[in-house]
Amino acid sequence: MAGERRMTPTAPPSAADLVDEAFQVEVRGALAAFTGDFARWELERHIPKSVPAALGRAGLFRRRWEPGAEGGLRRLVTMCQEICRESSGLALVAMGHSEIFVGGLHWLAATPYQLELLENALDGAVVGCFGATEPHGGSSLGDLRTAAVRVPDGWRLTGCKRYISNVGRADYILVLARAEDAAHPGDLSLFLLPLDHPGVTVDGFFDTAGLRSCDAGQVTFDATLPDDALLGKAGLGLLYATHLLHFERLGICAQLITAADTALRLAAAYTRQRTTGGRRVMDRQSVRHRLARARAELWNLETRLAHLVGIAEREGRMPGHEIAALKLTAGESTGAIVDTALQLFGARGYTAAFPLERIWRDARLARLGGGTDEVMSDLVAARVDRADPYYDDLVTALSLNDQPGPVPGPRG
Ligand SMILES: Cc1cc2nc3c(=O)[nH]c(=O)nc-3n(C[C@H](O)[C@H](O)[C@H](O)COP(=O)(O)OP(=O)(O)OC[C@H]3O[C@@H](n4cnc5c(N)ncnc54)[C@H](O)[C@@H]3O)c2cc1C
Repeated sequence: MAGERRMTPTAPPSAADLVDEAFQVEVRGALAAFTGDFARWELERHIPKSVPAALGRAGLFRRRWEPGAEGGLRRLVTMCQEICRESSGLALVAMGHSEIFVGGLHWLAATPYQLELLENALDGAVVGCFGATEPHGGSSLGDLRTAAVRVPDGWRLTGCKRYISNVGRADYILVLARAEDAAHPGDLSLFLLPLDHPGVTVDGFFDTAGLRSCDAGQVTFDATLPDDALLGKAGLGLLYATHLLHFERLGICAQLITAADTALRLAAAYTRQRTTGGRRVMDRQSVRHRLARARAELWNLETRLAHLVGIAEREGRMPGHEIAALKLTAGESTGAIVDTALQLFGARGYTAAFPLERIWRDARLARLGGGTDEVMSDLVAARVDRADPYYDDLVTALSLNDQPGPVPGPRG
């Protein structure tokens, strides 16, 4: 109706210049079926299984993987941004399924059972999650205790995984475990465990600060599995998981950038509309400068994400250290940007009437999940600590000449 005030934008703009536009239309089309459900899932603390299944039926996971792991990164970014704008919880579910479960199968599936599982996962007929973290810790995967023991025709898998996203609604969990004959603490293996298999119990769920629509639960198992429950080669599981996590981390970065972009645009719109003392809040220099710094920071993150996707596309490899660095800085910067945005909304930012408080809670997980800030820092530090012949020699030469010079002229 002419003159009617538009209350919600119908097609929000994209955060980074990485969008696959045709795919964006498909993702938006698939999500349209759930408009009105996102808030309910937050209250129910689960995303219904039918939702990732519908995304699969709409062909989103197939389309993401069609151009290959690195070739499909624009579609991953597009999917993360579009889904995250509606529901960060659903983005977490979709990403765990697509980037770790489908990604693992896409890379390593070799037997008829595994290849069939891949097809079902691409179609969303089977939904997977990832189990690395255990009750005694998640940062040091070399310490994990889940055991895989060889039995006739298969494996006996025993252990407990904690804080597993979507374990309440997934069909499968990809489990990182230690095979009994592992020679080295880092010799882990990946196993495909159906969550309805005898001996598997989902113990319950944790009440989390954010991402409330995606459950985070604990699963305990003592299950006997066939031979081809082992995905890939025994002993290479940590290597596989590390590689798959590069994709998840890139997806997390795309989500963070979307969250920061959404918060910042909301804050800019609000401060343009809100007046205090007869002036727009936006006209206060302290406010303008805070928004400007946030925008500058966000442009840097967007550019960096595009750069890393470009490297992966051109070279067919994931730049792991740089992705860790982006996740580290994007996690911290997004936290600060969203906090600024919430601040500029005043009390309204702290209420559920506006989405700032949810974005603020949701964004915090990124500094823990997919590898903590500290683990990311260690990865980046490993790059900093590499030999650098030119500067190593320069420092040696400078150190050799590091002597006091003559006193210039007579004293006094
Ligand atoms: C909502 C939610 C969803 C999650 N989803 C999943 C999932 O789907 N699958 C899954 O496997 N896990 C999942 N996790 C777990 C997450 O990956 C772990 O929480 C994370 O890896 C850290 O492990 P931890 O919590 O056991 O902390 P710990 O490993 O106990 O670490 C505690 C603190 O010590 C720091 N620290 C540890 N070691 C070092 C070190 N060497 N140097 C410096 N600092 C160190 C850590 O960075 C952290 O700050 C999820 C967590 C949450 C909260």
